[in-house]
Amino acid sequence: GNEGGFLGVADTDYSQESEIMKSAEAFALVRQQLGRTYLPLVNGEYVNTSEFVDSLNPSNFSEVVGKIGLMSVEQAEEAMKAAKAAFPAWKKTPVKQRAGVLRKAADLMEKRRAELSAWIVLEVGKPVKEADAEVSEAIDFCLYYAEEMERLDAGVIYDVAGETNRYIYQAMGIAVVISPWNFPLAIACGMTVAALVAGNCTLLKPAETSSVITAKLTEILIEAGIPKGVFQYVPGKGSEVGAYLVNHADTHIIAFTGSQEVGCRIYAEAATLKPGQKHLKRVIAEMGGKNAIIVDESADLDQAVVGVVQSAFGYSGQKCSACSRVIVLSPVYDAFVRRLVEATKSLNIGEAELPSTQVGPVIDAKARDRILEYIEKGKAEAQVALELTAPPQGYYIGPVIFSEVPADATIAQQEIFGPVLAVTRVKDFAEALAVANGTNYALTGGLYSRTPSHIQQAQTDFEVGNVYINRNITGAIVARQPFGGFKLSGVGSKAGGPDYLLQFLEPRTVTENI
Ligand code: NAP
Repeated sequence: GNEGGFLGVADTDYSQESEIMKSAEAFALVRQQLGRTYLPLVNGEYVNTSEFVDSLNPSNFSEVVGKIGLMSVEQAEEAMKAAKAAFPAWKKTPVKQRAGVLRKAADLMEKRRAELSAWIVLEVGKPVKEADAEVSEAIDFCLYYAEEMERLDAGVIYDVAGETNRYIYQAMGIAVVISPWNFPLAIACGMTVAALVAGNCTLLKPAETSSVITAKLTEILIEAGIPKGVFQYVPGKGSEVGAYLVNHADTHIIAFTGSQEVGCRIYAEAATLKPGQKHLKRVIAEMGGKNAIIVDESADLDQAVVGVVQSAFGYSGQKCSACSRVIVLSPVYDAFVRRLVEATKSLNIGEAELPSTQVGPVIDAKARDRILEYIEKGKAEAQVALELTAPPQGYYIGPVIFSEVPADATIAQQEIFGPVLAVTRVKDFAEALAVANGTNYALTGGLYSRTPSHIQQAQTDFEVGNVYINRNITGAIVARQPFGGFKLSGVGSKAGGPDYLLQFLEPRTVTENI
């Protein structure tokens, strides 16, 4: 059991009038600050850039959330030099003190919770409650990794008569964190503070479309007392600044979360020794999914419909854990699809900021166009069970459900990352598992069933990192559902779990003859 173990912070209770007021005030405050400029942080100073990009509100793209200064490769090199200079002192800083910075950051985020949620809502179009849950996750990462590093710092003692043996963990050096836009605060924060608390100097390269939120994280880490050069904020083009840092001879660790395409590329680039490089790089790459939920003939269909709708259309299907395939056994197929369509029809689609919104926009025009292409492709491959229309002002896409989708169809194999769901009919549970396992990915998966043998078999044979039985498959909680996949969904230990920090550390054995 986890009795006495880590307990995460609570989300905001929006049934309280006072919380609704606080949220409204935060939105008003954030709206006054829209359009400001955010610059890279190099060696403790914000540095000017010659290139800028606007970060837009996906719910209403005429609104500029912030202007981001994109750093040059030369500035990235300065940041790398500053990181190297800061490393010896940070490595020797007592763990208690490093953990203290994380706890202070957690405290500051809790104080600024409503404001941070508002930034998330406005910059990446995430509905308010989900944005609030994301702030909780970011805080939990800080508190949990602080505690975890203190646990690991005790090391292991294997003493025998005449000899002491200490197994200890040390920082590795320079960590480059490359984050995605879909959990702009939680994932960027989790990877960053893990690297930092382990004693590594860390450069954070955010996804371009979520650079304002990571600038807020930067403010928080500075206020929490992170020394200059130890943490640096390096917004820039992924293909330039990101690639430069990945390929740099002085980089020790690359912590990446994002698409399979970029992840595989980073993995390959990191494997090549560069002139002057005297170590092998460690790559943590958390990538995409093509996550399935199986609904068998014994499932509680009401429960299954609710779970599938939440998992598929929450944050417009833009979670790596989102359900994008439902695999339904023939005896309940027609009834399930009918109810799924009815439930999906009642979803509110609109601006992320409105409390009634269940499905907001997708991130940007590129994503919208890509998703629309997949929908066209789906129309040639399967039947349209439902296609909802969407409001015109933002990057909206009404949820789409395809039925009778062949298991090998493009829309059943490729990650679409939008509110598009493929329903596949199978004859029995064995076929359901085979279809579920029949993609390159292995991130999350779910089963709705009241048949003990199926539940048992899913636990052993469903090839995914996180299996959920009789519940939705998104919303993993730190230190409760450590999160991450395998196959082409990624390499590395689960975020928010007991092995995660080990990836940022070099274990050493010290033996002394006495
Ligand atoms: P992405 O396009 O792969 O971008 C991720 C990050 O990589 C961005 O910061 C991007 O910078 C940077 N990048 C792009 N090209 C690069 C290069 N050549 N070298 C170094 N860095 C480079 O992914 P995304 O669209 O932000 O995120 C969505 C994807 O993330 C989905 O596939 C989703 O499943 C996955 N995801 C996985 C998890 C998980 O835990 N497994 C969690 C969340 C998301 P720019 O923005 O500047 O291009």
